[in-house]
Amino acid sequence: MAVSNGLQILHDLHLKLQAVQDDLEKGPRLIKAKENVLAKKQAELDLAKAKHTDQRKLADQKNLQLKTNEAKLADLNTKLNMASTNREFDILKGQIAADKMANSVLEDEILDCMEQVDLLKGKIIEAEKVVADAKDGIGKMTEQVAAAQAGLKERAEKLRLAVAEAEVVIPKDFMATYRRLVGAHGADSLAVVENNVCTSCNVSLSPQQGMELRGGRFIFCISCGKLIYAAMA
Ligand SMILES: [Zn+2]
Repeated sequence: MAVSNGLQILHDLHLKLQAVQDDLEKGPRLIKAKENVLAKKQAELDLAKAKHTDQRKLADQKNLQLKTNEAKLADLNTKLNMASTNREFDILKGQIAADKMANSVLEDEILDCMEQVDLLKGKIIEAEKVVADAKDGIGKMTEQVAAAQAGLKERAEKLRLAVAEAEVVIPKDFMATYRRLVGAHGADSLAVVENNVCTSCNVSLSPQQGMELRGGRFIFCISCGKLIYAAMA
């Protein structure tokens, strides 16, 4: 009974330690996840900014083209006024009509560009807010996690000491096996036996093992290899 009792206490301490360790890892993991989201949002913002710059440049180019075309049109109009033959007049008239049409298309394109610029500006403002909020959230969470970590680390340290003390129940000959188990499975290295069934693998103990267990022997489950102990009545 003493062995089972000691192992139950040891198992309980391992479970508590594992829970604290899980809590310790959870905070940084949550921060990391938030940082990944932030990186994605920042990339979206950068993309919107790049597109915005491109559209503005395009609008500038088209505006410049329009001004050049308008100067050309003015020039053609001057020539039209000075046309000396009907043929020259007709050719110039045709050129002017074609250039006016081209300019009208260009003006529409410039309007489209400016619309895109406005839309992208709106997207940038939205994305900047999302990024700022994400940064704010990460800052707050980092503070919270840091505040909790000190207490959790202290608790983990106390539990590690308690576990080390409770390990006196492990016979020297089994220590290496026990350490290997703990290294691989942590708190799940130990399993309670209920109604003659190992609760780790749900396999019934052999009559021989059942007897050994009840006799207070230190044994490992022949099915899953966990360190097993009898449930307290
Ligand atoms: Zn088992």
